[in-house]
Amino acid sequence: MALNLIMLGPPGAGKGTQEERFAKAKGIPKISTGDILREAVHAGTELGKRAGAIMERGELVSDDIMIGIVRERLDRADARAGFILDGFPRTVPQAKALDGIMTGRDPLIVVNIDVAHDELVRRLTTRLICQECGSNAAVEDAAAGLGSRCKKCGGAMVPRADDNAAVVIERLKTYVRDTKPLVDFYGARPTYRSVNGAQAPNTVTADLEAAVAALSKATASGAPA
Ligand code: AMP
Repeated sequence: MALNLIMLGPPGAGKGTQEERFAKAKGIPKISTGDILREAVHAGTELGKRAGAIMERGELVSDDIMIGIVRERLDRADARAGFILDGFPRTVPQAKALDGIMTGRDPLIVVNIDVAHDELVRRLTTRLICQECGSNAAVEDAAAGLGSRCKKCGGAMVPRADDNAAVVIERLKTYVRDTKPLVDFYGARPTYRSVNGAQAPNTVTADLEAAVAALSKATASGAPA
């Protein structure tokens, strides 16, 4: 059975790090809509020009654009054997569209990483990403400061353009208004679990692995998790 996984959680919950670990361990692609948009901004494409200004304000790119991007990406051969979606769905209309895209595929498994608001602000205003490859080192190596180099490619570690305090507050507001309702949307399904994201990253990984294993098993046997 293909592992079709969504990780929900506010910005700063550690989704990116956890998803990268999962994608590596399971050999399936991590599909990050934020990364796709940042690449488009970097490349200066039409999409990048439209999305860049919206992202800098901490707002959301339109559902139509995002659903189109994800539909096309999930249609590619590598995603047929499973995938981890990062940053999508971000709204209830996106989640409904994803249910449609999933018709005829193995069920979605949804895990939520839960972290309190104050901790998120602290994490988001101190995290760094690589200017070259976009890798996020803050969780792996909290001591690495500005001016340090990326472990993957040697690029300079810099704050993300949308991680200054004002934008962080705006992104968290956007999350509470548009994305948190997904916890209710998926929460009632037998394919949903929430884990405590305020723990050490390795403990969160272990909890997520246990949740995904239990949900996969239950999904495969048709029994509730
Ligand atoms: P992320 O890296 O997931 O935090 O995404 C960075 C920014 O890209 C967000 O603050 C949004 O502006 C935009 N974005 C990413 N994914 C989506 C989505 N599914 N729907 C709307 N906007 C998105």
